[in-house]
Amino acid sequence: MDGRTLAARIRTEVAAEVARLGSVGLATVLVGDDPASEVYIRLKHEASQEVGMESRDLRLPAATTEADLIEHVRGLNADDSVDGILVQLPLPDGIAAARVIAAIDPVKDIDGLHPFNAGQLLLGRPTYVGATPLGVLALLDEYGVELAGSSAVVIGRSNIVGKPAALLLLQRHATVTLCHSRTRELAAEVARADLVVAAVGVPGLVRAAWVKAGAVVVDVGITRTDAGLAGDVAPEVAERARLLTPVPGGVGPMTIAMLLRNAVTAARYRSQELAFPAA
Ligand code: NAP
Repeated sequence: MDGRTLAARIRTEVAAEVARLGSVGLATVLVGDDPASEVYIRLKHEASQEVGMESRDLRLPAATTEADLIEHVRGLNADDSVDGILVQLPLPDGIAAARVIAAIDPVKDIDGLHPFNAGQLLLGRPTYVGATPLGVLALLDEYGVELAGSSAVVIGRSNIVGKPAALLLLQRHATVTLCHSRTRELAAEVARADLVVAAVGVPGLVRAAWVKAGAVVVDVGITRTDAGLAGDVAPEVAERARLLTPVPGGVGPMTIAMLLRNAVTAARYRSQELAFPAA
């Protein structure tokens, strides 16, 4: 499943939406100098500028206190030119990410991590859902993967990928098993699955022998190794799976495209073109 081609098409659609709306403002907040986070922030800004968004790149020193960071978030909440706010995770030690995220105005929370938006997804009335799980679903839809009634195994239960991916699949009527580091028989769980979504961060964890012949496999994992970027799925899985996402070029580009789409959604909520439910 080719994420680059679909992501390029979505970016073109987003650019047309930005032009129609007149202005879409995206603000990111990066605390400290984690090199991987700096790369992600740079990619997000390049992509947002390419589609004509106004992007604000707030950089704060690693020594920033939680109270100061929350003050900055409140400033962005109050700034009418900002539609979507994204606080890059992880935050330095000593800052509680949950309190910072809870300070974001839910209508600007394009990562879908605020308890209000996370709760809406749990209740089956999604508002904002994180860009990575949305990207996974968009790829599956693009390739016509039948989800209703299928058996789906999601490996990884993070708030940013695994849990929302599992909830989206449940909403689409898959029978979902959510696996994690304490799962006893991971190989047996995977063997039953028509669809496997791996979001772990352990290169090559999912082996070919585990995967049912003809299954669909989505590899969210990205780990930097000496040999380059590696996914969670062993390369030989390509010989058993009917459809598989490459790393790189699968879910990665989709994440950026869906983030841009979420920023457009934010502008539509804020202009009341779409109704945002009362928090
Ligand atoms: P995370 O917060 O570290 O969560 C990893 C999850 O994997 C946890 O739920 C953990 O279980 C589980 N796990 C760890 N070792 C395991 C094992 N041996 N067997 C089964 N489960 C295991 O990571 P994340 O933020 O969700 O990211 C996951 C991966 O996706 C990373 O490689 C990350 O770089 C990548 N990622 C890619 C994109 C993209 O755009 N493609 C976006 C976001 C993340 P416990 O809960 O029990 O600890």
